[in-house]
Amino acid sequence: MTMQTHIKTFTPARPIWCAGCGDFAVQGVLEKSLHKMGIPPHKLMLLAGIGCSGTIQNNLPCYGYHALHGRVLPAAIGAKLANPDLTVIAAGGDGDGYAIGAGHLVHTFKSNPSIMYVVMNNCNYGLTKGQASPTSPIGYHDNPESGMDSILLGLSFPSATFIARGFSGNPEQLERLMEAALDHTESRKGFAFLEVLSPCVTYYDTHREWRARVYNVDEEEGYDPADRSMAFQRCLKLRDEGRIPIGRIFKGVHPSLESLTLNKAELPPAQQKVGHEGHREQYDKFINSYMG
Ligand code: SF4
Repeated sequence: MTMQTHIKTFTPARPIWCAGCGDFAVQGVLEKSLHKMGIPPHKLMLLAGIGCSGTIQNNLPCYGYHALHGRVLPAAIGAKLANPDLTVIAAGGDGDGYAIGAGHLVHTFKSNPSIMYVVMNNCNYGLTKGQASPTSPIGYHDNPESGMDSILLGLSFPSATFIARGFSGNPEQLERLMEAALDHTESRKGFAFLEVLSPCVTYYDTHREWRARVYNVDEEEGYDPADRSMAFQRCLKLRDEGRIPIGRIFKGVHPSLESLTLNKAELPPAQQKVGHEGHREQYDKFINSYMG
């Protein structure tokens, strides 16, 4: 391998997104937050699902993994349990995460692993030319169903610990939310769920509409993100009024998955020596079990 090829291999690609796509703001804010929090590339694993947003892991210098459609969360949880010292970020879109991946989202709220999940919600399947997704409103491309609300879904889990929604048209607030989410997982407090309203300018340009409809709970006097029932009622009422709540919606306390499941007497799998004699014996035994 020549030096030139080597350098190219480790140079992040440029995003392939359409000019004006909301995902640019998400990536910019993510890069800034990682830099500000001093998380180095060799400590970061960024996994992404299928879709336009699912290419984000190509654009940052870090460990990257492109998951099967909808399967980004189990892969991210596996990475975290294998090496809890890694900062693990899962990313994707509403089509990937709320349709085929919805079951995994439910169980991630339930199990509370210390990973961050950023969902770039553009209310359509942008990569495959704009079909209706689980968050598309009634009437979009003749869609007869009302859109799901991931925030209300997350609030229904007693084990949820961090739920927030940002807007790519408000990068200052998004930065605060991203840092708070990263801080949550870095402190091993559990699952940080951050949905970002990220307009698809090519197939469903919601920039103006969302700017008029967002409602910032961070600025509401008396709003208490530690009060689950207040958060639920407020979000439900805002939805009925046609508003979209953004901000730090909920922050709770619950043991993280890794604190409940990892054996503290042993090093996590990725930190164990692979050449260890004991492992070789186990491996031989395993292989021999398949041989007559
Ligand atoms: S199709 Fe939409 S979501 Fe995909 S890159 Fe273009 S603007 Fe972004």
